[in-house]
Amino acid sequence: MRLPPALLAALLAIPVLVPHAVSADPVAPPAPAVRDFGNGPERNEVAADAPERAEALKAAQTEQPGTLSHDRGYPRRTRLPVPPANPADASIKLGLVPHHDIAPRLNDLQQLGDRVSAQVIGRSYGGRDLYLVTVTTPESAAEVREQERIRERIENDPAAAARDRKLVKKYKAPLFVNANIHGNEWEGTDAALRVIEELATSKDPGIADLLARTRLYFNITANPDGRVNGVRQNGAGFDLNRDFVTASQPEGRAMRQIMIDAQPVAMIDLHGYVNGTLIEPTTPPHGANYEYDLFIQNTYANGLGMESAVNGLGYTPEKDGVYPAQIPFRDSAEGWDDWPPIFTPQYAPFHGAVAAHTVEIPLRVNGSDYTQLPVEELRRRSAINTDVAAAAIRATYAFVRDRHDRLITDQIEVFRRGSAGEPSRAVPLGIVPGFGPEDVYDTTFPRAYVITGRRSEAAAARLVDHLIANDVRVERARHAFRADGRTYPAGSYVVDMRQPKRGLANVMLEAGADISPRVDAMYDISGWSHGLLWGAGVDGVSSLRVQADPVKAAAPTGSVPRTPGALALKVADAKDVLALNDLLAQGTAVTWADGAAIVPASARPAARAVADRYGVAFTTASTTGTAASTTAGVPLAPVRIAAAVSADELFTLRELGFAVTPVSTAVLNAGYDWSGTDVLFVSSGLSYTALNPAARAALDAFLATGGVITRGGTGAAFNAAAGLLTATAVAGRGDANGVVRVLSTGGQVGAGSPDHSFVYSPRWFTGLGPEVTVEQSYAAEGPLVSGHWRPNADGTGGQDAARGQAAVVSGRDERGAAVVLFGTEPMFRNHPKGLFPQVARALYWASSVTGAAVRR
Ligand SMILES: [Zn+2]
Repeated sequence: MRLPPALLAALLAIPVLVPHAVSADPVAPPAPAVRDFGNGPERNEVAADAPERAEALKAAQTEQPGTLSHDRGYPRRTRLPVPPANPADASIKLGLVPHHDIAPRLNDLQQLGDRVSAQVIGRSYGGRDLYLVTVTTPESAAEVREQERIRERIENDPAAAARDRKLVKKYKAPLFVNANIHGNEWEGTDAALRVIEELATSKDPGIADLLARTRLYFNITANPDGRVNGVRQNGAGFDLNRDFVTASQPEGRAMRQIMIDAQPVAMIDLHGYVNGTLIEPTTPPHGANYEYDLFIQNTYANGLGMESAVNGLGYTPEKDGVYPAQIPFRDSAEGWDDWPPIFTPQYAPFHGAVAAHTVEIPLRVNGSDYTQLPVEELRRRSAINTDVAAAAIRATYAFVRDRHDRLITDQIEVFRRGSAGEPSRAVPLGIVPGFGPEDVYDTTFPRAYVITGRRSEAAAARLVDHLIANDVRVERARHAFRADGRTYPAGSYVVDMRQPKRGLANVMLEAGADISPRVDAMYDISGWSHGLLWGAGVDGVSSLRVQADPVKAAAPTGSVPRTPGALALKVADAKDVLALNDLLAQGTAVTWADGAAIVPASARPAARAVADRYGVAFTTASTTGTAASTTAGVPLAPVRIAAAVSADELFTLRELGFAVTPVSTAVLNAGYDWSGTDVLFVSSGLSYTALNPAARAALDAFLATGGVITRGGTGAAFNAAAGLLTATAVAGRGDANGVVRVLSTGGQVGAGSPDHSFVYSPRWFTGLGPEVTVEQSYAAEGPLVSGHWRPNADGTGGQDAARGQAAVVSGRDERGAAVVLFGTEPMFRNHPKGLFPQVARALYWASSVTGAAVRR
């Protein structure tokens, strides 16, 4: 299910704590869909210990090929490789299919007739196969190509597709069923396998008709690592149902590719556990970049159909502990919104889904129930859950069959409005029963976005490649041009908003909105922005007169100046960090001076190699303004980090090329050898006061030479308890989150940062000692640009209280340790790419000035 982070953290940290929306007891009264946050632990307060997978980290940098071949007929009868049996697979206890039995089942199902085709579409972070099943009537290769031509026409020439009356009759409507994205919400997988078998063998003419007019795509388990391990996250510790704007994980990129290639008109995402079954559409606020008039009509209609099918199974509260289904849009005021496009059904509409749902099946079998309930009871619950999920799938395919022409027509209309550049439409009140003023959200599309490398060419290239991977069209200007009074150089990238997927382009590139005034509480994050947080220069412009060519990838960005002498590499982008860490790993004699690495003339070949490899731009050392000679700066060595951090931070630090050893209170108490550590990073799972005397003495000895970086409440508490910097951390409201305006002032960490940062449970620092430098502060205006940040009930903790306050500070404590305190969230879910260099600069500075690196 879609647990709010605070509640999730509480759940994971204290297994007996059950949020009220989760039914721990099958005869408990139905739970409301609304969630409140309260002042629980901040997000991600769970220490990470994800194993390092160099291969997966490398895969994070590369894109996947298309998942669907358009040159082969159906069925395809691919023999899937069968993984070794794993008796520890968590599915087995529930009587459900373990991951290692899925491939044999699919191999058998493909032999049952001529309707089922299965394929491997990628691998999980943990290296497990991801399976896509296509169910449809047989098609020749020519028929497959014809279907693809129609799909392509719907997307790329929607006005003509809308005029072609024969098109909808010829086209098989694509439906996408996504199962088990949360690993410990199992039964969607088993329901999918059951329904595939029914479809494969059915003699019902209604099924033959369905399969002649539709293609059904099943992602059998979106999260095999989590399924096997019995946890929500994938093997890297990521919640895949929060990753769609970032696509940091291979499972998410596989799902994205299905949606791009198949272009489903409808989709359902199968979760658990909410009793009675929760079926979207959602409460407000609604995402402003959808064609919501089309979306809500279809989504509500299928919601009602699924409700009827689920209730029609005949399970009762008295007999089975199963309550009637609930639809948040109809049954709740707020708390289950579709604002951020980080969830599957909130991402799919940008690729043409005009009906998309999260479905939460009813009976809890995970968490403490998994470990404490008798096996018979767990299996009773899982059997009911499988029935419910199967009913939801059947209702949805019946819906797609019955509404075939309209769903295709509405998908064409979504792309047509985008291609025509029509303004965002305000949805008429009452378009479906209960659609009121509180449901109306719209946006203003600029004529285009211009993406430049004015801050970092590497950052611009990353953003362009990300947009293209999301099937957003990007062009490159042939000549310099002017827009809105500004001149842009030749080679600038242009995102023309007259394009079929303009909603997706806009939801990533726009600043977003501060929705604090409109809703009391949000389900998850309320702010994100690739435009403001990814380090590229991004401008929305109101006119577009430019000669530009479509691009399939960003142009190469690496360069080394010809002028002889030492070189400088400004750490302004994550790619600069990778390049620098690569040089350090090679043993290159690099020095660190005020946010830049200085590379001696003798290492020019190595510099040229990493410039090519990572696309980074070196300058001549004398022009950096920070280091006039080759001898300036402090010698730098590879930074070795001990990290008590959340899973996303661990992933990000490793992705940046740092050597990271996860630590925690327990690890330190067991006796930790600090001799291989340069910097301690604390944001989660480490309490100074909970250390035993020996562990504290060892840590104190480390602090005489090492560096410390902290983030969030855990980090601030560590700073205070360990007596590091003189600073009082003030906590903003716990659920506040979003994009904030900042002012960078400091030399070591802040300088060169974007004008925006990201916060979740923001903090600021007051009562600063003379040893403390303000690196970055919250702007005097706002500071929230987009997201949700209200004051606490007593008036404290609001964004006004944060205005002008220190957000990031640095200093040397009296023992000599170099310390940086973050009140912001620079690595949140691997999203704000433009903030990663701040963290790296903090690490290089802390490691270089404290001497540990020099001594080696
Ligand atoms: Zn879920």
